[in-house]
Amino acid sequence: MKYHIHTSIKLSVLILSSAILLLGEKKPNLIVIMTDDQGYHDVGFNGSKEIPTPYIDSIAANGVKFTDGYVSFPVCGPSRAGFITGRYQDRFGFTTNPTQDPNNETAGLPLTEDTMADVLKKVGYKSAIVGKWHLGTHPKFHPLKRGFDYFYGFLSGGHNYMPEMLTVEDITKVSKRWQWYSTKLRENHKAVELEKYLTEALTDAAIDFIDKQKNENDSPFMLFLSYNAPHTPFQATKKYLDRFEHVENWGRKRYCAMISAVDDGVGKVLEKLENENIKDNTIIFFLSDNGGPVKHASNNFPLRGAKGDLYEGGTRVPFAMQWPEKISGGIVYSNPVISLDIMATIAELAGASIDSEKALDGVNLIPFLTGEKKGKPHEYLFWRKWEQNAMAVRHQDKKIVAPKQWEKNGCELYSLKEDIKEANNIILKESPYSNKLIKHWENWNAQMKDRVFPTLGNDDWWER
Ligand code: CA
Repeated sequence: MKYHIHTSIKLSVLILSSAILLLGEKKPNLIVIMTDDQGYHDVGFNGSKEIPTPYIDSIAANGVKFTDGYVSFPVCGPSRAGFITGRYQDRFGFTTNPTQDPNNETAGLPLTEDTMADVLKKVGYKSAIVGKWHLGTHPKFHPLKRGFDYFYGFLSGGHNYMPEMLTVEDITKVSKRWQWYSTKLRENHKAVELEKYLTEALTDAAIDFIDKQKNENDSPFMLFLSYNAPHTPFQATKKYLDRFEHVENWGRKRYCAMISAVDDGVGKVLEKLENENIKDNTIIFFLSDNGGPVKHASNNFPLRGAKGDLYEGGTRVPFAMQWPEKISGGIVYSNPVISLDIMATIAELAGASIDSEKALDGVNLIPFLTGEKKGKPHEYLFWRKWEQNAMAVRHQDKKIVAPKQWEKNGCELYSLKEDIKEANNIILKESPYSNKLIKHWENWNAQMKDRVFPTLGNDDWWER
């Protein structure tokens, strides 16, 4: 009798705990690690022998390496606006890098748009951005007003890395151009003194946030770890420079060292997830916000062009992800994907609803990676640079591109499968097909808006 009671109690406990497990299947955390101006070839998983990136590579090895991973614009601000909303940024007129004027109420991500943090907040996530914002410096654009629960970083597009260089109290105290590189770091709204190399400080802040979510809130979280490395100015500490003694070029040496510091940071983040036992259910995406600016010592091999271009070197970036719980490792995925897909992926997994007026351009990548869905995530990908009237379309293995004034100068067509360098323009051989792609682009373009704010470098606020 005693035996039976004991067994039935044990059984009940078992059933109960299974039910709790089922009910309590946790929503995945999301960490997006974005670097700034890192070239396609400047990561181990894309073949770099010069810059060892073992921790970044481990994301690709334990998950997916995307060979054809794109961003939606070839420079920082618009690329980030697309990523953070999951929509082509030209839908809301974010066609250029915004001016850094804290008095300008238009130069930033329009308040009519929802960020990833806004959308995830409604389904119980806590979100943080650590590092570079670059989506507006007016107080109304502050990350804490755009759905984020925590901000540690800087609002401008570029920044100095050494503590002693940060002498300007705040972006409102900036009196001349580029001085925003020297503003003090902010933790939420408070100025903080930087005590170490910026890349290391950003890593620390990311780890503190993860710690807090795991041990205090126990809610699912989204962390946008937005390193400004290896964007200029080229500044690195001895610890990292010593790893590249053999690199002769002054800029290249520093650029390599800066990426190496990011890689160490990625290693620390991975270790933290492991220690907290949340690595399996945390999705990590790693990508650069645009291609490398070659003149500054980056390497986009084998791609043509660089930061600022609609050739592949401007928009195709190092791109990887892992989610150990659902995705087996070692996948090399070669259908085109885009940074806009990250928002669509997490929104769907988290059960977040999307306002139909702000429909996403990205798609949930997970079913394509598990094989549940066949086919390609995107039939077409589109780009434009409104100021230059430049355009590009990717369709299957073909790419149509016009670097500027496409109506006047005409377009070029490349078959990326045989011609990844975009060297042989085949537009004359395939005119009907090219015209079809141009027509698709025109239809897409008709849905986009003109620029809504002054571009960085074209405004005159610092002379007022
Ligand atoms: Ca950038």
